[in-house]
Amino acid sequence: MTDNIMHVIDLRGRNLSRADLLKAMPRASMGTHEATELVRPILEDVRKRGAASLRDYEERFDHVRPVHLRVPKERLHEALDALDPKVREAIEESVHRCRAVSTSQIPSGFHTDLAVGARVSERWIPIERVGLYVPGGKAVYPSSVIMNVVPAQAAGVESLAIATPPSKSSAEGLPDPTIMATCAILGVDEVYAVGGAQAIAMFAYGAVGSEEQDGDILCDPVDKITGPGNIFVATAKSLVSGIVGIDAVAGPTEIAILADATANPEYLAADLIGQAEHDELAGSVLIIDDESQIQKVQDSLNRRVPRTEHSERVHTSLSGSQSGIILTDNLEQSIAAANAYAAEHLEIQTSDPDTTISHIRNAGAIFRGPFSPVPLGDYMSGSNHVLPTGGTARFASGLGVHTFMKPVEVIEYDEDGLKALADKINTFAVSEDLPGHGECVLTRFVSDPYDKQSL
Ligand code: NAD
Repeated sequence: MTDNIMHVIDLRGRNLSRADLLKAMPRASMGTHEATELVRPILEDVRKRGAASLRDYEERFDHVRPVHLRVPKERLHEALDALDPKVREAIEESVHRCRAVSTSQIPSGFHTDLAVGARVSERWIPIERVGLYVPGGKAVYPSSVIMNVVPAQAAGVESLAIATPPSKSSAEGLPDPTIMATCAILGVDEVYAVGGAQAIAMFAYGAVGSEEQDGDILCDPVDKITGPGNIFVATAKSLVSGIVGIDAVAGPTEIAILADATANPEYLAADLIGQAEHDELAGSVLIIDDESQIQKVQDSLNRRVPRTEHSERVHTSLSGSQSGIILTDNLEQSIAAANAYAAEHLEIQTSDPDTTISHIRNAGAIFRGPFSPVPLGDYMSGSNHVLPTGGTARFASGLGVHTFMKPVEVIEYDEDGLKALADKINTFAVSEDLPGHGECVLTRFVSDPYDKQSL
């Protein structure tokens, strides 16, 4: 057992309360306190110094001083022209599928007639301007461009800007070429070579000062910021939340696989590795009620991990305290563990996946059966890959058209509709010691709303 990469959390025979079950889950410690100390001054500096501070932070954290903070449009098109046609084809397939699902998601609103002349309706209105963060530190994520932009466009957002770190390998400090090409494919031309907390500050406060002339507006503030990122990005998003809207505070990525004796251990091992490849802090969790499967999975990991490209990162992630194999008594306890963990990605590899899924309450996205692995959703399934992490799937959902819209209720009562309620509204208002509220309504129907005798 000493050679095994992943540690086992044995829940068998333990009748755990909900609180104990939550504590038993492997979880990355976010280090948010330290990150907050680091990020707060960055936000303040960008708010005060604008573009000049953005360049300084890029030099310090990304080791390149971008010539253009806002990427010239020609560069986006040059990147598209130079793109490998096979990569372009894959990107276009992903866009096509994501757009099809996003279009089906557009909410239609509703109206409810409560009485004659008494209607409440709901309108969904797109957010006017959004800032989309596309990570680019350890790996580059052109797929995240698609997952942010396509639902925003389907929602009808008028103005959208992308920020992504500059690439060290570009002398001009431009972003990764595939990210730039994907922006061009999607028709987005407001792209900034700015990453980390400084990008979030730029979106929240706007930034003044361009390469040509100090005092120019570089970036207008946005109404909402979406997109995944590392601890600095996530902390910055939570600090500016309230000044702007944010989607969810996404932390390191994670997978939970809920499996039983019927699952293929080779698929389980490959899928755990696939997630671990993202980040040393990524969480890979297997929840299983069959002990004999565990050694098969560990053996497969032992064979596969040394052979995979990012072997060291994968090993660190799989052996970390945020990953583990949870051994349960039965499927019921496995489901309870999966709901407690509330995974960003939850794969279901059980003999009856539909019944298992019917008991799942908490997950960012559910991948049903052996042929719906997470990378399908990362790139191509049509679903969105920007999902809630760190247990926040208990109350949050993934990115979608709804993220970029807001429902607004429209109240439409006519004279008869209001008159029928005037007395009750007045009673309510008086009971809250807000008689002026009642008088608003009574003014419309009696000659002297202040004369209580006349009512
Ligand atoms: P990133 O773009 O999030 O972060 C890079 C930036 O971090 C740099 O531009 C730099 O400015 C800043 N930074 C680096 N070191 C710093 C320091 N010491 N102090 C202050 N700022 C610093 O890219 P990343 O680091 O590769 O992280 C991407 C994350 O996004 C990963 O955890 C990945 O798993 C996650 N991700 C999540 C999803 C999802 O849907 N939840 C999708 C894709 C990626």
